[in-house]
Amino acid sequence: MNRIKRNILLNPGPATTTDSVKLAQVVPDICPREVEFGQLMNSVSTDLTQFVADTAEYTTVLFSGSGTSAVEAILCSSVSQEDTLFIINNGAYGERMVKIAKTYKLNYVEFTSLPYEPLDLELLERRIQNCSNKISHLAVVHHETTTGLLNNVKFIGDICNKYDIDLIVDAMSTYAAIPIQMDEMNISYLAASSNKNLQGMAGISFVVAKVSKLEKLENADIPSYYLNLYEQYKYFSKNNQMRFTPPVQTMYALNQAIIELKEEGISDRYARYTRSWDRLIRGISRLGLSYLVPEAHHSKIITAINEPDYSDYNFQNMHQYFYKHNIMIYPGKLNEFKTFRIANIGAITYKDIDIFLELLEHYLANISLIKYEL
Ligand SMILES: *Cc1c(COP(=O)(O)O)cnc(C)c1O
Repeated sequence: MNRIKRNILLNPGPATTTDSVKLAQVVPDICPREVEFGQLMNSVSTDLTQFVADTAEYTTVLFSGSGTSAVEAILCSSVSQEDTLFIINNGAYGERMVKIAKTYKLNYVEFTSLPYEPLDLELLERRIQNCSNKISHLAVVHHETTTGLLNNVKFIGDICNKYDIDLIVDAMSTYAAIPIQMDEMNISYLAASSNKNLQGMAGISFVVAKVSKLEKLENADIPSYYLNLYEQYKYFSKNNQMRFTPPVQTMYALNQAIIELKEEGISDRYARYTRSWDRLIRGISRLGLSYLVPEAHHSKIITAINEPDYSDYNFQNMHQYFYKHNIMIYPGKLNEFKTFRIANIGAITYKDIDIFLELLEHYLANISLIKYEL
C-alpha cells in the first residue's frame, strides 16, 4: 500500500488523519438510500451518542455540513420566539452563537467575559437571577478554540439545573478528547463535528440531544427548512436516513475514525494530546515565547501564542516557511491581542511537535539575526 503524503496539521481542525481513515473513503459506489448505508449511519449515530451519554435517553442527529450547522440547528430549532436564550460570549465561537441568534431574531441576553480569563460564575448566576425575562436556554462553548480557554460546563450545568434552563453546549473542539457526560453535566443539546478530535474527514456535523427535549419540539415553529432538528431527528428515527443526501464517503471515514477512537479510548487520546501540549509549552517557553490562557483554565488542545516581539516577524511569512515543510499553522483570532495558534489535535504525537519546535527555533533565529544586522 502506498503511503499518502503526510502533512502535520497544527490548525484547529480539520485535523491530521490516519491513512486508514483516508482510505476508508475508497469504497464501492452505493446509493445512500440502501438499507446497508442506513445501517452504517445508525451505527455511527449510536456510537457518537455512546461516547457522551446513555443511548436510552439521548440520541445523535446527523447533518451534512460543517460544525456551525449543528450549532445553528440547535439554536433555531430549540429556542422559540417566546423563549429567552442566555449566551455566554468569551471568544469568537460565543460571538458566532450571538450572530446566529440575531439572524433568527431570537430573544437573547449576551453575557460577555474576557477571552483569557475563567468565567465569573457568581456573576453569571446573578445575571440569570436578575434577568427580567425567565431564561429558558443557556448556550456556551465548552472550549473556546479562539484561545484555548476551557469553560466550566459542569458548574454551568448545575446552575441550569437550579433554574430549570436547557443547556446547549458547543463541544466542537472538546468532543472525543475531553471526557463529557451529558447527564452529569445536565446538557440537553450538544454540537460537534467529524473533523476535529474525532480525527475524521470534514463534512458531518451532529447534535447529541436528550430525546425528551427533541420530542417536545414536535409542534415547534422552526424557522429553517434544512436545519430543522426535529424533522431530521424524526426522519432518521423512522427511516435510518438523513432527510437529504449524506456525504457518503465522509461517513465511511467517520465510521473508521470511530473504530480508531474506541481502540485508543477518549482518556488515552487526551493523554496523547496533553503530552504534545506539554512539549509545546516547554519548547516555546525555552524560545522566549509566552501564551495567553493560564494553564489552570487551559484545554491543552489549542494554544494562542503571543507573537514574538521581533520587528521582522510576520505571520504570513512564518506560515509559508512552515507550509514548505508540510506543517500548517494558524493565525490568531483576537483583534486586541497579537497571537498565532497551534493546535495539538489529530493523528499526531509529541514527535511532530518536536519537529515543529525545531523549525520554529530555526525560523526565529533567522529573523532575529536579520534584526540585529540592521
Ligand atoms: C470548529 C468550531 C466550530 C465549527 O466551525 P466550522 O468551521 O463550521 O466547522 C464551532 N465551534 C467551535 C468551538 C469550534 O472550534
